[in-house]
Order: sequence, then structure tokens, then C-alpha cells
Amino acid sequence: MPSYKLSRILLACLVTGLVSSCSSTKPGGQADDHLIDINLVQVNDVYEIAPLNSGKEGGIARVATIKKKYLRTNPNTLLLMAGDFLSPSVYNSLKYEGKSIRGRQMVDAMNAAGFDLAIFGNHEFDIRENELQDRINESAFRWISTNTFHQVNGEAQPFRRNNQIGQYSFPPYIIQSCNDADGTKARIAFIGLTLPFNKAAYVSYTDVRQTATQWYDRLKDSADAIVAITHQSMEDDIQLAKDLPGLAAILGGHEHDQRYAQVGGVIITKAMANAKSGYIIRLSLNTQKKTCRVSTQLEKLDSQIALDEATSRVVDHWTSVAEQSFSSLGFDAGKTVLSAGEPLDGRETEVRSRTTNLCRLIVQAMKQAAPLADLVILNGGSIRVDDQLSVPVTQYDIIRTLPFGGSIRECMVNGTTLIKILFAGKTNIGTGGFLHSNDYIVFDDATQSWKIHGNAVDLNKDYRVALPEFLLTGGESNLGFLKNGSPEVLRVYDLPEDKQDPRWDIRKAVIRMMEAQK
Ligand SMILES: [Zn+2]
Repeated sequence: MPSYKLSRILLACLVTGLVSSCSSTKPGGQADDHLIDINLVQVNDVYEIAPLNSGKEGGIARVATIKKKYLRTNPNTLLLMAGDFLSPSVYNSLKYEGKSIRGRQMVDAMNAAGFDLAIFGNHEFDIRENELQDRINESAFRWISTNTFHQVNGEAQPFRRNNQIGQYSFPPYIIQSCNDADGTKARIAFIGLTLPFNKAAYVSYTDVRQTATQWYDRLKDSADAIVAITHQSMEDDIQLAKDLPGLAAILGGHEHDQRYAQVGGVIITKAMANAKSGYIIRLSLNTQKKTCRVSTQLEKLDSQIALDEATSRVVDHWTSVAEQSFSSLGFDAGKTVLSAGEPLDGRETEVRSRTTNLCRLIVQAMKQAAPLADLVILNGGSIRVDDQLSVPVTQYDIIRTLPFGGSIRECMVNGTTLIKILFAGKTNIGTGGFLHSNDYIVFDDATQSWKIHGNAVDLNKDYRVALPEFLLTGGESNLGFLKNGSPEVLRVYDLPEDKQDPRWDIRKAVIRMMEAQK
């Protein structure tokens, strides 16, 4: 077990942070034993409020149950969200009470579950500025933002919450004062760091490493332990642990597949996305010896964990709102579209670097919907589920796989442009602009050229390409030329007049093919 020492001289001059206190039990007749435990319950990258996989995994109601479980044995228990929870989500395209939902369902569920602290992930800035402000105002939990700021009229200022409770300016750190039954007192400092990835105009960042070091230096003498809650790559978390070996722990997000590392004395944890697991980080402090022992426990949030009733009521409300919206769009969300077979692989790392069975299935469905097309191209970034879809796969799973929806368009390009598109897809490996195509489109390593049905792409021929409407906006990396009006796009075909045609919604095209195959 790692252990580290921190001096504990209190400084009275810290100005901008917030000091709060943990719930405590009444000091009895016992003497202070200088030992105190604090539990941090961590989840990160949660896009779904309801349980997944036929109700067997995840769900905010299970997160609530886990918090309550640890709270029962230790009142010094905090529930933390390490970023990415407002987007992407199927709810982003739905409306309620005349407004886009955009994360409102998540904030509502988090409030019910009793979240204590949250930090920004990159996806919080996917939604519009006024929408994010609404979500912040609705939140009942505290936020920390050490390096991420609201850009207003060219000026960086802290994000703020304005609601009936009053005004809350997101602090760069929080000091949580805790005490236990025998009167041991401790102060835990938290900082919150977000990778400067999302370039939304209303957000600005300071350098993660520099900012973290500055605040660490200012806080280290006034807290018994400092915890960084982060949303950045594992590589950057490891660097942070090397920069600040005195941190008690780094509770991170951004990767979706559960991670654990120990760098020197610093433990780094990331839970499985969509609350399929939660990490419990226990800080065991000896305030006399000035030591902090950190131990971790992984909680699988599966059918063994009951759903918290109060949270479930909130989740059920939103689920029924979504179901009504889906049915008005012509979906039957609960209906099974695949009942047997291997899981469909929609994990982000996979669909942005190779063509998985799920990519192949979507490409196939697009080709069926647009039979006159010579080929299909699909950007890996259309697939946002970041998960393996196990059977039974429902219509809802397809909707959350392709939450942006949108139509399947067709355009005509010449052979030279087609080659340019295919090479751009190769260049975009590792990003959302990585392209998938039919299995008869092959890159020949020996000749470094593209083949279609075994023959080189013909430079004298025009090809009809089916693609998601987003790819025809010129908005994809290295594909700026791919838009209506560009000289390289010879023709864009109109969508059919029949609104029932599957080309009107890529999700319906996929569902239609899967149901026909069932
Ligand atoms: Zn992220």
C-alpha cells in the first residue's frame, strides 16, 4: 500500500476555494485516535441514466445504492463524477416541455442519486452555452473546475450556478473537512482538471500540468490529503502522478474501459463507462503520523446491486419521456432486433481504428437502403455507443449507437476523388473521421492502392457513394472538399419523396435490415 507524508500547517490565506464539511457523528466520550477513513465513490463517462443490457448492468439508481451502502458504515463518504455525462446521448435529440433535453435527464438522476461533486469532461461542452448553463443551474451537486473557464466577451471567468439556492462560482479547489465519532478531524483537498479538447467558443482552459502544480503547491500545507479528479487520457494522468508524487490519488475519466495504475505512491482509477462499475477509493489517514494509506475496491454494478427506488422513479420518468418521443418518430424502443449471436462491437477505440462487426452491419444496412450506390462510406464517429451490444439488442440500442441519426445521402464523385476520400479515412485513424466501407473496398499494401471488387479504382469512372449526411457537410477531418457545391462532388442525389424510405434515417435503415434478417 502506498503511503506518503504531508505537512499539515494550516494556512489562513487561501482565498478562492471552498471549505465544506462532511457529515459527522457526535464526538462521544472516546479520545481522538487520530485515525479517520474517507470513502470516495467514483464513476465517470456515464451517458445512460437507465440500466443497460436488459437492465442487468449500470444505471444511476445502482450508483445511488452503492453510495448509500458505503454511507451506512462511514458518514465520510462522497460520490464523485469524473466528467462526461451530459453528452452524447439519445436524449440530446429529444424535446421535453418545448426544449431540447440535452443532459437534463442526467442532472435530474444525479441529483436524486445524491452526487456530491462533479468536474467537466470534454463532452459537457458539446451542448450549447445556454443549455449547459441550464444544466448547471439545475444541478444540486458541487462542481470543481481548476483549469476550465467560461469564456464571456473574450474574458475567462469561472462558470457559475444561479438558482434558488443562490450563486455558486465554480471554485478551483474544494477543501472538505471531515470528522469521525471519536473526534478525529481531517481536511481533504480536491482539484478538478479537464483536457483542453473541446474547442467550444464559450470555454477556455489553462494548461493542465502547470495549473495542477500551482494549486497543489498552494494547498499542500493546508490539507491532509490532496485528490485530483481528472478527465484526460491515462497517459496524462500518469504524467500528473509523476509531476505531483504527493497526490493521494487521481480519480480519472475519459477512457471508458476501467483502468487502474499505481505510479510511485499515486493510485489512478477509472471506472467502466456507463456506471457498469464504480471505484471506491478509501483514504485512511493518520493525522498524528501524517500518513495517508489509499486502498481501492471495484464495485461491479450488475444485477447483484439493487436499484435505489427514489432514483429509479426519476429515471423511469425520463425513460417514458424518451419512449414517447421515439414512438412519435416511428421507433419501438423496447423491441428486439437481434436475439442471438456475438456482441456487436461499438467500442470507440475499435470503431475508430478497424471495421468491427457493428460497422460492417451499418455499412451493409446503408447499402441495402441505397442499392444503386457503388459503395458506402461511414465515419467511425457516427457510432457513439462506446460499448459492446450484447443480445438481446433492441431498437433503443441502435438509437443510442447512432444518436445523431440523420439521413443517408448519395453523391457522385470521380475515381480520383474516391481515392482521396479513402486515403483521408486511413489518415484519420484513431479519430471519428476513420472511414468504414464495404468489404469489397480493399487497400492493397503491396501496391499502396485501393481496389474495388478486386480491381484498381478506375480514374476514368464516376462512383456513386452512399454516406451519412454529416459527411456531406465538409465538416469531417481531411474531408472538407466533400460537400454540396464543391467541384469534387459531381452530383448530390435528392432524398426520395417517401418519408418512410429508410434513407431518411440511418437508424431506421439499420433496424429494418436487422428485423428482416431476424
Ligand atoms: Zn472524455
